[in-house]
Amino acid sequence: MKLAVFSAKPYDKVYLAQAQAAAGLDVEAVYHDFPLNPETASLASGAIAVCVFVNDTLNKEVLASLHSLGVRAILLRCAGYNNVDLKTASDLGMFVANVPAYSPEAVAEFAVALVQTLNRNTHRAYNRVREANFALDGLLGRTLHGKTVGIIGTGKIGVAFARIMQGFGCELLAYDPFQNPEFEKYGKYTTLSDLLSRADVISLHCPLLPSTRHIINETTLGETKKGAMLVNTSRGGLIDTKAVIAALKKGQLGGLALDVYEHESKLFYNDHSGKIIEDDDLMRLTTFHNVLICGHQAFFTEEALGEIAGATFRNLADFVHARECKNALVESSQEKGAPLTMRARSDTIPIRI
Ligand code: NAD
Repeated sequence: MKLAVFSAKPYDKVYLAQAQAAAGLDVEAVYHDFPLNPETASLASGAIAVCVFVNDTLNKEVLASLHSLGVRAILLRCAGYNNVDLKTASDLGMFVANVPAYSPEAVAEFAVALVQTLNRNTHRAYNRVREANFALDGLLGRTLHGKTVGIIGTGKIGVAFARIMQGFGCELLAYDPFQNPEFEKYGKYTTLSDLLSRADVISLHCPLLPSTRHIINETTLGETKKGAMLVNTSRGGLIDTKAVIAALKKGQLGGLALDVYEHESKLFYNDHSGKIIEDDDLMRLTTFHNVLICGHQAFFTEEALGEIAGATFRNLADFVHARECKNALVESSQEKGAPLTMRARSDTIPIRI
């Protein structure tokens, strides 16, 4: 049995190999360091399953191509699945499973690190001190204690972020169409408009869906408190980049911290340092002193990589043994030869589209 792993970095191979050994599955894992897309799908030939990450493409064309090659299972090494056409996967009878909860604290802690870095300018201080410049001009921050933090999306990561920010002594507001009693231990739910108008720091933790694409746009940016800081560790498509650039230029936004970017799939996870970057919006963003950008690394801890790899092989084992899989987004009933059906889980998105 062959498993084709796409977008596989050296660290992925280490953790996946350990998880494979622990799972005891007789699988030949073939690693490709490039992403899955219409041009590379043919390299899954002979595989029963593909293992993919956030910037792999699993649209209708790719899924049809994989299916024609004999691929029957899609294993996502991530929580978000905005890059998979679940309807087509279901129509084709393909099993799809994600890793819904791997260390939400890893992402929440990174969001806090971005807030702290941008607010207190420690990234700029680091560079100055290396050049023996100990001047403080330009490094002025604001005390977080007593500030209002607005959280958009209070699932696993949003709540973990709320828990930490409460420790700073912040007042917490949240917007989520599906309210989570866990969040109410830390703050209050309100409308999106009210949150935007009151928050000093706005952090995005909702998934990318048709309904949330560009949730931060010219109109919603116009509702923000002047000088607010916006943090996005969720998905790049939540923000209309051109609108955010305009808001930064006007001073409507006082800071922007991104771990994800709308057009990241062409750039992130690879070294482009010797190349010309053609994305003018991304390059414009890098010129602002109050913008901090990272390359989709919020998940990147030893613990999270271990959990992702372990859950990926447990999902594969469930598929192989035709067992019910708790992480299935599109479920299989192989033993009966029945068509696969899309399962609406309370903690997943299809139910909410
Ligand atoms: P989750 O499913 O536990 O929570 C998502 C929450 O968003 C849910 O409570 C849902 O009701 C809410 N939501 C849905 N539509 C909304 C809307 N229109 N407005 C506000 N809230 C809405 O997911 P999670 O585990 O907390 O992850 C959140 C997101 O973080 C994922 O979808 C993924 O895109 C992103 N993520 C990023 C990284 C990274 O490395 N940067 C790692 C993991 C996850």
